[in-house]
Amino acid sequence: VHPTAARRPNYITVQSENTVYTDDHITAKYLDRGADVMVSDGQFTVTPTVKPYAFQTTRKVGKTGLMMIGLGGNNGSTLCATILANKHHISWHTKEGIQQPNYIGSLLRASTVRIGTEPSTSKEVHVPISDVLPMVHPNDLVLGGWDISGLPMDKAMERAKVLDYDLQRQVKPHMALLGCPLPSVYYPDFIAANQEARADNVIPGTDKQVHLEHIRADIRHFKAEHELDRVIVFWTANTERYSDIIPGVNDTANNVLASIMNSHPEVSPSTLFAVAAILEGEPFINGAPQNTFVPGVITLAEREKSFIGGDDLKSGQTKLKSVLAEFLVNAGIKPLSIASYNHLGNNDGHNLSAEPQFKSKEISKSSVVDDMVDANRLLYKPPVPGAKGKAAKGEHPDHIVVIKYVPAVGDSKRAIDEYYSEIFCGGRQTINIFNECEDSLLATPLILDLAILAELLTRVKYRGEGQTDFAPLYPVLSLLSYMCKAPLVKPGTDVVNSLGRQRNALESFLKACVGLEGNSDLLLETRVW
Ligand code: NAD
Repeated sequence: VHPTAARRPNYITVQSENTVYTDDHITAKYLDRGADVMVSDGQFTVTPTVKPYAFQTTRKVGKTGLMMIGLGGNNGSTLCATILANKHHISWHTKEGIQQPNYIGSLLRASTVRIGTEPSTSKEVHVPISDVLPMVHPNDLVLGGWDISGLPMDKAMERAKVLDYDLQRQVKPHMALLGCPLPSVYYPDFIAANQEARADNVIPGTDKQVHLEHIRADIRHFKAEHELDRVIVFWTANTERYSDIIPGVNDTANNVLASIMNSHPEVSPSTLFAVAAILEGEPFINGAPQNTFVPGVITLAEREKSFIGGDDLKSGQTKLKSVLAEFLVNAGIKPLSIASYNHLGNNDGHNLSAEPQFKSKEISKSSVVDDMVDANRLLYKPPVPGAKGKAAKGEHPDHIVVIKYVPAVGDSKRAIDEYYSEIFCGGRQTINIFNECEDSLLATPLILDLAILAELLTRVKYRGEGQTDFAPLYPVLSLLSYMCKAPLVKPGTDVVNSLGRQRNALESFLKACVGLEGNSDLLLETRVW
């Protein structure tokens, strides 16, 4: 068994009066240290703050299902096949030799976190992130879901052309046992016309309320049939066009529900699935870029205290961009333009070759440098209050995104980026990146991470100052930002795109839940005598 797939029964134990372990829970006290800043006449007055919290994590990992919308697509079929390969210890021949299944590319399964220093050697100690708190093992996920294409899962894997033939050959009987995806809702107006030929497995009729109830029943049946404690509902279906935000239609929870009742044309399939999951009290995650979470869906999630997260998997080009843009701006270098070109030849690329679906992806890919620019107004002119046009938004690098469909390259996506920057005293620097990667093999571990984290976060409760009872976290799971191109955050709060900051947030949160404070690279012991 590859180390990333291994089961390690012993989690770390924190010995401290702040951390209490019982059979059922891990309860930890945590001091959240921050600072309040008052700005007046260009002067900043900073007051350190300390807010006491307690976190309570249920230790028992429930039996968890993962229902994917788009199950028969490249990501859906690849995720199922790779989990089954891991579960059944299927190794396969490639031209390089024997390949073992693993979970490389999953933050939770394949990366580590520094938990401290061994006193006798002064060496740092790192543990797998999945050891910090009890998390569901990917091999234990019960897999299922919907697709508008009714192809059985073994055939869907063949159609995807992602995995080596020898793996496909061996995993095929296990995939066949998954059967066919459940029929899904198909509203042709939302995805590219070129997808129509796939749509042979659709829930009949046009009544959206009937469709909603059908999906809710699917979730309930799946849960009951497999005796699950939790089902994560995950959109990995085609990218949809944006829904228009229309007052009275999708702006409030009640309006969204009424629009479903009236079968309003602006209710997209993904919004319908999100509403179904929210009403069933199961987490919903959007792995594609469209605005599934119209304002009314967010308020519905708040009202139902049901978890949502997204948007769009941050797998290749954008992940690198959220590292490079931060590196440049934090180094005091000023990117003047970022030009990104992609071409790919899988079904996702085919769907994105239609303008409205491309538009969703373009929006999702474009906002990724905004927070870095906003954080450095030494390099970029700030917005001018009362101004019109560009000046009102403040200075920003030129940023373009192009995506082209090139069938020949199949699932092997190519991303070409140019970062053109101003350096010292009028100099210029140009960085060119050529990133070639197997798209679905980068994306599927992110689906796993999102599902595993979402399940964990349903088991974490918190208690703030003055609260007597533990309460669930806020429904928009912004801790999932690391895996998302356009992170959904609590309305009114800032989006963090920087990959480093997103990882720190996650690491600090997991540590806080076991009473370990801070994520400090201060390493004072190495700076003092
Ligand atoms: P894919 O086209 O291979 O699979 C999508 C599947 O969704 C298809 O099988 C299709 O039949 C199905 N589908 C379409 N509409 C549906 C509906 N209403 N209900 C149920 N099923 C429906 O695409 P993929 O490569 O698996 O990518 C899936 C999604 O993830 C896309 O939206 C893509 O933009 C997004 N994404 C992928 C990556 C990546 O690197 N692969 C990265 C970020 C985001």
